[in-house]
Amino acid sequence: MIIQYYVGSAQEQREEVRAKIREWGLRVRSSTGEKEESSDTQIHVDNVFGNVKDAHRREVETFDCVKAVISIEGVPQNLSRVRRGGRHTVTLPNPHGGKPVTLGEGAPLAIIAGVCAVDRDHTLPSHQMAKRSGADLNRGGAFKPRTSPYDFQGLKEDGLKVLCEAREAVGLPVVSEVLDVRDVDLFMKYDVDMLQIGTRNAQNFELLIEVGRTGKPVLYKRGFSNSIDEFVRAANYIMEQDNDNLVLCLRGVKGIGSSFRNQGDMDEIVYLAQLTDRPIVYDLSHSSGKKSAVFRIGNMAAAGGADGLLLDVHVSPQHALVDGFQAVDSEEELTRMIAMWRQLHELTVGIP
Ligand code: PEP
Ligand code: MN
Repeated sequence: MIIQYYVGSAQEQREEVRAKIREWGLRVRSSTGEKEESSDTQIHVDNVFGNVKDAHRREVETFDCVKAVISIEGVPQNLSRVRRGGRHTVTLPNPHGGKPVTLGEGAPLAIIAGVCAVDRDHTLPSHQMAKRSGADLNRGGAFKPRTSPYDFQGLKEDGLKVLCEAREAVGLPVVSEVLDVRDVDLFMKYDVDMLQIGTRNAQNFELLIEVGRTGKPVLYKRGFSNSIDEFVRAANYIMEQDNDNLVLCLRGVKGIGSSFRNQGDMDEIVYLAQLTDRPIVYDLSHSSGKKSAVFRIGNMAAAGGADGLLLDVHVSPQHALVDGFQAVDSEEELTRMIAMWRQLHELTVGIP
């Protein structure tokens, strides 16, 4: 845990807290901020190591000199904001004609928009529409994880071809979901710019390792039944492969029965931003499952600290092969939404 003390707190009070911590058998490393002219403005922070329990955190919080207690237990070192000295960005080089795209703190809000499933006739116009509306990346599934084996499973390799041909015309990098370790090479062959791990594969550790090994940017979605702790620990499988290009994606969870497709988990944006150094994307379409909800949920996520937003779009949703009901189809509306989300993001930048 990390303890932040009030500026101007008394040395004796801070020592009381440390004595308590040592009584519990924990170790404390104290640090002070830059020396200010008056010692009253000195910042004091303690790092506490050992088997820190919730009860310890709660007791430390009761001391008057303590401003905040931040729990870092459970966040692996590879993606810990504290251990890595701040938050980091991920850049997609985009060698296919367009500009590189950066996601993360300090970069503009990144918009990932595209078809749910790649189809032959509408992928290109949908992705062009997304670009004209202000999107930075296109998404499109060539391999689709479906609840029923009788449902359309994606165009597979043909889908990757269509997606990457569209990329040549549009100029935005593309994100596509890898379902199976056996397909990773195919994604490399088509030089897919960012590999998505979908919610159903969130704990397919072999797949996380293989995708991590490619060194490619990865959009890693939270499993819809995984706790945040399980999510960040599994994310470490990717980082452990010397892959620093990991982006975390929240997309709603199976809750207690939401009125939406999934129960929104955008409050976890705040948690992830405080504890991890990773860029955070919120998936508006797969969390809500409602085209009519995407705008307002996007407002919440953009103002709530997301570094990127993902949504399904389609120029002709009635012909979409998957998830047409949740795809935004109006260029005018999409343009307005993206402009608003960017504004909200900018207004809240820098607020801890
Ligand atoms: C998708 O992005 O197309 C998708 C299937 O998402 P999720 O894994 O979040 O359900
Ligand atoms: Mn979808």
